[in-house]
Amino acid sequence: MSGNKKEYYFIDTHAHLGMLKGKTPEKAVEDAEKEGIRYIINVGTSLEDSRMSIDFSNKFTNVFASIGMHPHDASGFGKKEEFALEVLVMGRGDESECSTENNSRANIKKKHSRIIAIGETGFDFYRNLSPKKDQEEAFISQIELAIRYDLPVIIHDRDAHNDTLRVLKKYAGNKNFRAVMHCFSGDSGFAEKCLDLGLFISFTGVVTFPSAKSVAEAASVVPIDRIFLETDSPFLAPQAKRGKENYPEYVKYVAGKIAEIKKLSIEEIAFVTSKNAEKFFSLNRKL
Ligand SMILES: [Zn+2]
Ligand SMILES: [Zn+2]
Repeated sequence: MSGNKKEYYFIDTHAHLGMLKGKTPEKAVEDAEKEGIRYIINVGTSLEDSRMSIDFSNKFTNVFASIGMHPHDASGFGKKEEFALEVLVMGRGDESECSTENNSRANIKKKHSRIIAIGETGFDFYRNLSPKKDQEEAFISQIELAIRYDLPVIIHDRDAHNDTLRVLKKYAGNKNFRAVMHCFSGDSGFAEKCLDLGLFISFTGVVTFPSAKSVAEAASVVPIDRIFLETDSPFLAPQAKRGKENYPEYVKYVAGKIAEIKKLSIEEIAFVTSKNAEKFFSLNRKL
């Protein structure tokens, strides 16, 4: 009986809709919906991109916003940037709308309540586009902002496992601290260290690459109730679409690979990882 079947759908917990070239954000969201992707979290990488993230979350009922500053954009991070991010979290980013669109303050506040996380933030020593000191300052500032507003943090870590753990250790005991290691790129040993700190782990299409055996091994040791699925689109298209632009709908390929690794059905993986993400990001409270 179909009535007994668990309803399942996918959540792409990490996408950059504003960076797509082959499709408009509208089309990408629409196609994802048709493929059973119920929600998309659009992740900000700079102040400007974070404002766009908020706009997407207001425009599309199934898109939520994370706001933050990527380590690539951390150059010169200081009090000014910290304050600007805080203004966005408080929902005061578009004060001017009050007079122009005759929105009440309550409306503005409500519109911005679709911010469900801070990030992406962390370290990127692979491309090293910003000085390490600035990356660290931006990272710490964003973790503390997330703790103040009781929001989870989306962490970017590329070639920086030790420094990332060093920073996170200081916050692991804080009751408001919740974080996800996005685009997990470590091995099973690193995954265990992340789990010990209470982190969630999010996998992209990288887990489908034949060359990324250690990431697939890591997925085998992470319990499914600590896993999220993501695309990081337009980047990192899964093996089946390798070299092409990546879209939120391709999160199904990530689910398929995790299902294979865990020897479970794709439906089960979709169901569990979606519940994980809904709870972690409090999505149902922000609809
Ligand atoms: Zn990233
Ligand atoms: Zn990203």
